[in-house]
Amino acid sequence: MEIDRSKISPMMQQYLEVKDKYQDCVLFFRLGDFYEMFFDDAITISKALELTLTGRDCGLEERAPMCGIPYHAADMYIKRLIDMGYKVAVCEQLTDPAETKGIVVRDVIRVVTPGTLTETSMLDDGVNNYICSIYHDEVNKTCGVASADISTGEAAVSFFEGKDMEADVINELSRCKPAEIIFAENFLSMKNTADFVKIRLDCAVSLRPKVCFTEAPRMEGLKEVFGVKSVAELGLVEDRADTAAVCGLFDYIRETQKSTVSRFTELKLLQGDAFMGLDLNARRNLELTETLRTKEKKGSLLWVLDSTKTSMGRRMLRSWIEQPLKSPARIIERLDAVDALYRSSVVLADIQALLERVYDLERLMTKVMYKSANPRDLKSLAATALQLPALKSELAKLAGSSKLIARLDSEISTLEELARLVENAIMEEPPVSVKDGGVIRDGFNEELDNLRHIMTHGKEIIDGIEQREKEETGIKGLKIGYNRVFGYYLEVTRSYYDLVPEGWIRKQTLANAERFITEELKNAENSILGAKDKALSLEADIFAEVRDFLATKLVPVQQTASAVAAIDVLCSFADVALRNNYVKPDIAIDGAIDIKAGRHPVVELVLEDEMFVPNDTYIDKKSDRMAIITGPNMSGKSTYMRQTALIVLMAQTGSFVPADSAKISVVDKIFTRVGASDDLTAGQSTFMVEMSEVSDILRNATPDSLVILDEVGRGTSTFDGVSIARAVAEHICGSKKLGCKTLFATHYHELIGLENELDGVKNYSIAVNKHGGTIRFLRKIVRGGVDESYGVDVAKLAGLPAKVVSRARELLEEMEKQHESVQANVVSDSGGQISFGSLGREAALDMLERTNIDELSDEECRGLLKDMLNVINN
Ligand code: ADP
Repeated sequence: MEIDRSKISPMMQQYLEVKDKYQDCVLFFRLGDFYEMFFDDAITISKALELTLTGRDCGLEERAPMCGIPYHAADMYIKRLIDMGYKVAVCEQLTDPAETKGIVVRDVIRVVTPGTLTETSMLDDGVNNYICSIYHDEVNKTCGVASADISTGEAAVSFFEGKDMEADVINELSRCKPAEIIFAENFLSMKNTADFVKIRLDCAVSLRPKVCFTEAPRMEGLKEVFGVKSVAELGLVEDRADTAAVCGLFDYIRETQKSTVSRFTELKLLQGDAFMGLDLNARRNLELTETLRTKEKKGSLLWVLDSTKTSMGRRMLRSWIEQPLKSPARIIERLDAVDALYRSSVVLADIQALLERVYDLERLMTKVMYKSANPRDLKSLAATALQLPALKSELAKLAGSSKLIARLDSEISTLEELARLVENAIMEEPPVSVKDGGVIRDGFNEELDNLRHIMTHGKEIIDGIEQREKEETGIKGLKIGYNRVFGYYLEVTRSYYDLVPEGWIRKQTLANAERFITEELKNAENSILGAKDKALSLEADIFAEVRDFLATKLVPVQQTASAVAAIDVLCSFADVALRNNYVKPDIAIDGAIDIKAGRHPVVELVLEDEMFVPNDTYIDKKSDRMAIITGPNMSGKSTYMRQTALIVLMAQTGSFVPADSAKISVVDKIFTRVGASDDLTAGQSTFMVEMSEVSDILRNATPDSLVILDEVGRGTSTFDGVSIARAVAEHICGSKKLGCKTLFATHYHELIGLENELDGVKNYSIAVNKHGGTIRFLRKIVRGGVDESYGVDVAKLAGLPAKVVSRARELLEEMEKQHESVQANVVSDSGGQISFGSLGREAALDMLERTNIDELSDEECRGLLKDMLNVINN
């Protein structure tokens, strides 16, 4: 909207000046009890929030479009705008309108963006709200990714280089699932990452000038945040990409928060190789924190393992699942802790009962640091602190059996000073706001007590003065009265004039009486009338003092918070293990994974009509590197493979596992290639996606990785498919090539032959009971492959009309005959799609005649043509 600024009123001038600085934000401009929006903001936002669009005189001919929201409801509106992808700049009145001549000073005190939220009302308590910053150093070909959660004070950074750099950056972003990403202009040079952010991550992005990441003054700002003299103290190297990423991140945080708040106590340097490598596909396919289809927590691994009692624990559980460990020593440490809790179920129950009363120390502390904590927040902090001594004494009982529990116990402070101060200072059930008083306890501050005494005993004080003066002067009938003009006064009737002492000041003469004031009376009046205001402002001061004292306890509170969170997660693991009948896995180093009677942690809980059938898994680095699993669709192949991956992953997070026994050798990465993924929407064909995922795996897997391949080669014609599947299997299995542990489900029975040809391959299949015309899935994995696909039987189970089923059976038989005669394979796949394979010419022509080309996709047509050519050329 074009605005003639020369004619505009001074206040609107002020509005426009502020707006100029925050063009990419919606500006909330404080006017009294409202935040108002004007001009273009008003037009768009009134629509977005369904507010009434009004107008305000602004000096121009037409009124300025305006809409507004009451200041006390701002949080709710801000949250809605943030969810819609807006940033909101909150502009406050910085001087008191009552005491300001001319225009009130206003400025932006905070910019609210998706990644910089601190209000608990806007956040999900079990999930971290990360903001990430990426810095790419094109010269040295390195990259830094920094992440922070302002609401909890967590900050971390990773450094990446080498050929896997982009894959690692993408994996780190997949783990954080940031609400917002900031990057420098040259970010687009990392094309894969940029595409990933654009297509796969649903988050806000902010482009920042490169100087924000590298300039010296900004580095100074970074040091100030952490209270250090050099970046080396943080473990960072000057002029490196990770340092730049951290610098850019905190520069942005300072700019949006408008203050240098020392909320952050620690910068974690993440060593990529401390954690199991999981790319976004693996995270999604294994349904670690949400289900593939509905994106809900229910049905995910997190859902099964979550018996945490605190928000801090809930967030930490999520991050443990997102970052399984690789160090056997650290894994065993966690498992021993879970074991100690598992064996002492009484202590476990007592600890969990205490944790129920623990509040979110991290987010409460953020409010304390940002001075937005209210009286109830301080009470919650104290209530939490009060649980700590009992918690520590429970932990002490297990310290002998678990080093980790002993260490966490030692990291928990009892925070007595904090608890005592809040208990002494703040009322039992304080109001939410300090504004109306009633927050500070009686007896905490003498001056406040006096003021309160005056407020409630004002009349008694005046009566006391009256009584005393009467006795001292001997003036009978001396009365103290009050009027608006003089305030309190002493009234003396005419007959006692000569008894009036010298110091009294005459104020008014009436017909039969005189009115006086004394200094004492004036003072009493001032204190009575001013007591309320003074008490309110004194309460606010005392409250701020208490809050600021708590702020000095940031380090012990933060340390306690993370130790309590870890205890909560360990208890959750023990509790779930007891409830679901899990066992402690043995962590081995011989490279073998040996699971007896393993179960799928989620499927076993959601099955309604059937019992879950447990299965063994054995794979190692030698003769059993690759398990080729055949079996009809729906027989349980993919459940079985995922269950193996999940058991390994659970063990590496420190959880017990659903099995009778499990020996797990640590894996460095898990890869999955399962089903169609949602990249289809990005314009790639199923086959392209499948192949690019497979090639990612082949490039990034190591001999220590676990690879799960479900139906590779399915997206193309049979001959191509078999060839690709076989070549992939050969490549992975060849110990000179990749040699990683692999579970390979396939419906290409040709692959069964690999067992005899390649070292390290073993065939398995899922047992099926075929009785008459019906099949029954036994869900049991057995040695040896099957060469029957049961496709038609499964189709029948799925409810395909009987006529179609019997026709399919007829066709199948026909083809099987052909197959025998030409000694070649006829393969039918799940969808009942028939491939000509190496049928004889006649049979192929016959089939072609019966094929309805209109029903086939382009790809299928191409496959068909290729097959036909094969037939003709044979
Ligand atoms: P496939 O990959 O062979 O097509 P799935 O693994 O998807 O088959 O399994 C199909 C269904 O069978 C699952 O949704 C589950 O309900 C059931 N199922 C799989 N494995 C088992 C098992 N071990 N015990 C009981 N039910 C199972």
